[in-house]
Amino acid sequence: MFKERRTLGEAMSEEVRNVIIIGSGPAGYTAGLYSARAMLEPLMFAGYMSGGQLMLTSDIENFPGYPQGIGGPEMMMQLREQAERFGLEVHDKNVERVDVSERPFKVWVEGEEFRAQTLIICTGAEAIWLGAEGEDAQKGRGISTCATCDGAFFRDEEIIVVGGGDSAMEEATFLTRFASKVTIIHRRDVFRASKVMYDRAAEHPKIEIKPFRSVKKWLSDEKGLTGALLEDPRDGSTEEIACTGAFIAIGHKPITGFLEGQLETDDSGYLLHHEHTMTSVPGVFAAGDVVDTRYRQAITAAGMGCSAAIDAERWLEDQH
Ligand SMILES: Cc1cc2nc3c(=O)[nH]c(=O)nc-3n(C[C@H](O)[C@H](O)[C@H](O)COP(=O)(O)OP(=O)(O)OC[C@H]3O[C@@H](n4cnc5c(N)ncnc54)[C@H](O)[C@@H]3O)c2cc1C
Repeated sequence: MFKERRTLGEAMSEEVRNVIIIGSGPAGYTAGLYSARAMLEPLMFAGYMSGGQLMLTSDIENFPGYPQGIGGPEMMMQLREQAERFGLEVHDKNVERVDVSERPFKVWVEGEEFRAQTLIICTGAEAIWLGAEGEDAQKGRGISTCATCDGAFFRDEEIIVVGGGDSAMEEATFLTRFASKVTIIHRRDVFRASKVMYDRAAEHPKIEIKPFRSVKKWLSDEKGLTGALLEDPRDGSTEEIACTGAFIAIGHKPITGFLEGQLETDDSGYLLHHEHTMTSVPGVFAAGDVVDTRYRQAITAAGMGCSAAIDAERWLEDQH
């Protein structure tokens, strides 16, 4: 979909780049825009999903500057175009591994080695999906993993939320602002959610909690999602539930595997900031969902990408 300016071979050289940005979501492109405007001639590896998570969604109504809303892919193309205008060099390639044990840092792409004084890691976090039958066709339509992003599309509709942790309780409670009814589906009767979050959901008049249920199959017609076939894992019995929206809240997985444990993370694998946006290794910065266990929004990722680029620029200056 996107055009690459130079070939990968042309991009590779003996030179040590000022900045290599890994990942091309809102965090990556904003880091690219700022570091390009700061004349750092950044190189970006956009990764397996060029444009990031928003390539999966049709309507974005909460990114400032688009009063009528905008399609996710369209917005990401505009972000890329804006950063490229100032000289960001983008290659739609995946980074296989990095070595941050000494400077310049090394980055391997398709077996070739690239070197840079600073890295900005913006590889995001993947929502964990259920993988139930019929799910792929409804992803980003009737089925979502982000209530803040998509809840408002389901006004006066019946929604189900799948999960038993704090996120599921929080999403369900938030969704009561829009939905006529919210049903929480959880495969056990033991909930990981804190008592206060569970009680808030359980006591809400619009919320029903159904324990011992898992989604066996999503039901849909030509207009979209119509319900789910639920299974009781204790005896395999099934029942149908009607819903036009579903939110899966069973967790996120930060994309940090290619770092092979070289940077400090929390127990779930999210990168940790040590000083502003700098990670445990000086000169390596991180921004967006790959560090964010709380907000996970395009605007917060973009804001952090800006911070990381400014931090990288100042850090480079301090080295001279
Ligand atoms: C269906 C859906 C709808 C959403 N709707 C909204 C919304 O309406 N409003 C909102 O604010 N937020 C929304 N979000 C959340 C938003 O998409 C994220 O918060 C945001 O995209 C995070 O940006 P990011 O830059 O941190 O990472 P991401 O957008 O996740 O991008 C990560 C990037 O890293 C790259 N990458 C990963 N591994 C590698 C590697 N090894 N080498 C190179 N590159 C790599 C990927 O290719 C990708 O480009 C939605 C999310 C989803 C899934």
